[in-house]
Amino acid sequence: MNIHSIPTAEAGATLTIDLDAIVANWRDLAARVRGRCAAVVKADAYGTGLEVTGRALAKAGADTFFVAQIEEGIRLRAVLPGEAIYVLNGLPPGTESTFATHRLKPVLGSMEEVRQWAAFNADRSSPRPSALHVDTGMNRLGLSMEEAEALAADPALLNAIGARLLMSHMACADEPGHPLNAIQILRFTAVRSMFPHLPASIANSASILRLGREADCNLVRPGIALYGGEALCGQPSPMRPVVRLDARIIQIREGHAGETVGYGATWRLMRPSRLAVVGVGYADGIHRIASTRDGVPGFQGLAAGQRVPLLGRVNMDLMTFDITDLPDGAIKRGDDITLIGGGIPLDETARWFSTNAYEVLTSLGRRYARSYVGG
Ligand SMILES: *Cc1c(COP(=O)(O)O)cnc(C)c1O
Repeated sequence: MNIHSIPTAEAGATLTIDLDAIVANWRDLAARVRGRCAAVVKADAYGTGLEVTGRALAKAGADTFFVAQIEEGIRLRAVLPGEAIYVLNGLPPGTESTFATHRLKPVLGSMEEVRQWAAFNADRSSPRPSALHVDTGMNRLGLSMEEAEALAADPALLNAIGARLLMSHMACADEPGHPLNAIQILRFTAVRSMFPHLPASIANSASILRLGREADCNLVRPGIALYGGEALCGQPSPMRPVVRLDARIIQIREGHAGETVGYGATWRLMRPSRLAVVGVGYADGIHRIASTRDGVPGFQGLAAGQRVPLLGRVNMDLMTFDITDLPDGAIKRGDDITLIGGGIPLDETARWFSTNAYEVLTSLGRRYARSYVGG
């Protein structure tokens, strides 16, 4: 498929995902770092499609993958028989055999999980593999520094969990000047010295792009940068854009000066206007906060190479754009208005939605015609 493929007739919009760009972004990151480069593909590979993206990255050479949930691990295992798959959210009670069946590695993030995995491995001379997560400043998942120290001093327990990786997670890598970065790296250095035989991993996308090579350790874990999103507060992403969303125009209509547009009559037309209605809305992941508000224009699309503003509210399944300033005949019913990508940076969309690129991508809806490029 290529990027100009015609949207399927039934869908309100076409979501185009550039697998070559994802692969290029992975190679770019892998070339920057000292250690090896994994791929974080949780939340359906940040909305791009777990199986398709996972396969493309494995083909490019990625051999270590991180998902958040067990179900994601099972889906990924079905298409990647040989790669290492770590489950970040850990080991819920009663799921041990599911991890074993699908050869998933739990990221053990508490002493309860450590004991649970050790007990499950009690009858084995070579324990099933896992990762050990130590908290260095997030206060989310991970053993405390004290717990890690106690575990390091308990070789029987440590041997029983089959740890293959020592990891932690950065809280503020997207703010390179934040004092917590240096503190976390210092703490992680101390943790590494407790477990000198384990390969170590702490870097996410922002850490790779911003914090220099010190945090690379043995394995880096980029997510958002693979998908073209912003990893740094307020700076354009250096990565290749991956996602593009084109909404098809359902109808073009005329509006008179003085009339209002849409629910709540929140936008009043100041001139005779041409309006283009597209069949995409908040049910598809266009956040309602991108509506016009108190006379302030909202979200902008791109039609025939020009910016066109949204008028009124983002509805569940519809939005109305002002195309008055386009030359006569520049667009017609059935043409597209680009909502994300194709000249509208993902990070700009995130600003319209008052959020970050992560949330834009992971809330992309399921009603789009999906078109994959490359891979
Ligand atoms: C999501 C996640 C990552 C990837 O973070 P990005 O900012 O998307 O690069 C890495 N490690 C852990 C533990 C995560 O939860």
